[in-house]
Amino acid sequence: MTEELKDYIESLEHYINATPTGQMREVLTTANIIIQTLGNDNDTLRRLLWLRHGCDTGALYGDDGEMQCGHCIMDFKRMPAQEIENRWHTMVLLKLKTSDELKEELNKLFPKDSDDN
Ligand SMILES: [Zn+2]
Repeated sequence: MTEELKDYIESLEHYINATPTGQMREVLTTANIIIQTLGNDNDTLRRLLWLRHGCDTGALYGDDGEMQCGHCIMDFKRMPAQEIENRWHTMVLLKLKTSDELKEELNKLFPKDSDDN
């Protein structure tokens, strides 16, 4: 679970403890279960992405729960998902061997209107 989620849960607990209703405790318990489930799913999906993102396993570093790749310099445990996606697109562009492949990939990313041709 990320530090942001832990901070969010702690802030909710502080708020609920200051509220004298049992209903709020129930809401917090449900919210905690949902947040923990999402955090666990996030961890699992990041681990699978780290293991299967296409780089040689020799480039992967996974001691003590780390999920890093020395080839594409990505930290799958800490980097925001959007940053991972952006770097992934950059890696795809860098792997293209010909200018035709580059044009084709750029056309997919930034489609032109037919009037521009
Ligand atoms: Zn990699």
